[in-house]
Amino acid sequence: MEHLIRSWDGEYVVVRYDREAEAWMFIAIHSTVLGNASGGSRMQVYDSPTDGLRDAQRLAAGMTYKWAGVDFPQGGGKGVIALSRAIDEKERDRLLERYGQLVESLRGSFSTGADLGVGPELVKVIGRETTHVFGLRGAGDPGPYTALGVFTGMEAVAAELFGTSDLGDRTVLVQGIGNVGVPLCKKLAEAGVRLKIADIDADRAKGVAAELGAEAVEAEAVYAEPCDIFAPCAVGGILNAYTIPQLRCRAIVGSANNQLGEPEDAARLHQRGILYTPDFIINSGGAIALCGMEALGMSDDYVVRKILSIRDTLNSIFEEAKQNGESPLAAAERRARRVLERGPA
Ligand code: NAD
Repeated sequence: MEHLIRSWDGEYVVVRYDREAEAWMFIAIHSTVLGNASGGSRMQVYDSPTDGLRDAQRLAAGMTYKWAGVDFPQGGGKGVIALSRAIDEKERDRLLERYGQLVESLRGSFSTGADLGVGPELVKVIGRETTHVFGLRGAGDPGPYTALGVFTGMEAVAAELFGTSDLGDRTVLVQGIGNVGVPLCKKLAEAGVRLKIADIDADRAKGVAAELGAEAVEAEAVYAEPCDIFAPCAVGGILNAYTIPQLRCRAIVGSANNQLGEPEDAARLHQRGILYTPDFIINSGGAIALCGMEALGMSDDYVVRKILSIRDTLNSIFEEAKQNGESPLAAAERRARRVLERGPA
């Protein structure tokens, strides 16, 4: 742990050992250059607390890039509660209350919300002890805002590849019909897209397909399924050395976090001529809505405009990538570094 903290390029890590639940709490503040840090809090059993710390540091850095990539006035942070064993509901709630006290003690330098193992109901438990939580006031479900960002990103991609932002003649395959997938599919159906949908819950996929006049595709068959745009909206790591050679699409535009199995997969997609929209740019709509409305006092109209500007952001990323003959991921990361060097707008 000492090595991880000493060698990290972030600002600081708050560490607390919770004796009662035998759990470790890590709040990693990667960068406050653009504003106070914010990011979700996750809770799970780890083999060792070191793994929890590593996760917190990695995910906090990811948040810095997410905010900087869309030039939003927030810093990157992440909370991890590293459990050493399973705990019952009563013990869990008490632990989350103590975690809420830790967040409160930072007096707004870190605000947090839902993540793996900490759903909206558990954010409420943290919120008993701190006001620095997202998702309890105002913005509601971030899914439709994330879907709006993905939709506008698809329009940018269509303009780039097909010379028109109109998605009406396109075939889009959505993987994962959940909080983001459903509102995204609805928008796509309204736009007249030929829609294909897949979910590991096959009945769910069939139900939504029937409702929207879409075609349900088997979850295992998605990678080789022909389409113009493939939208991963389920889980991470699905673009890798095994799946990329199978793809029969022109572009990837989806909400899932950490879509690439490893950084080299961006180059693999680039070599195959498949346009990849970096996940941390395209899926930022929900975070923009939650933070913008609940922490920064922005109106719904303003955050919607900010989310729609993802389209301009992508246009300049594609342009820079083309000029340098590189993947959009490389251009997006450079753009985020430039914003951080510049500082708050
Ligand atoms: P969700 O849990 O509501 O929905 C995910 C759906 O994917 C479920 O219906 C599930 O059955 C399905 N699924 C899981 N594995 C699958 C697989 N291998 N193949 C096909 N379907 C599969 O999640 P969500 O909130 O819609 O988020 C989707 C993704 O987008 C996640 O990776 C999430 O981290 C990311 N994301 C979500 C938001 C948001 O606002 N909700 C914001 C940013 C990023």
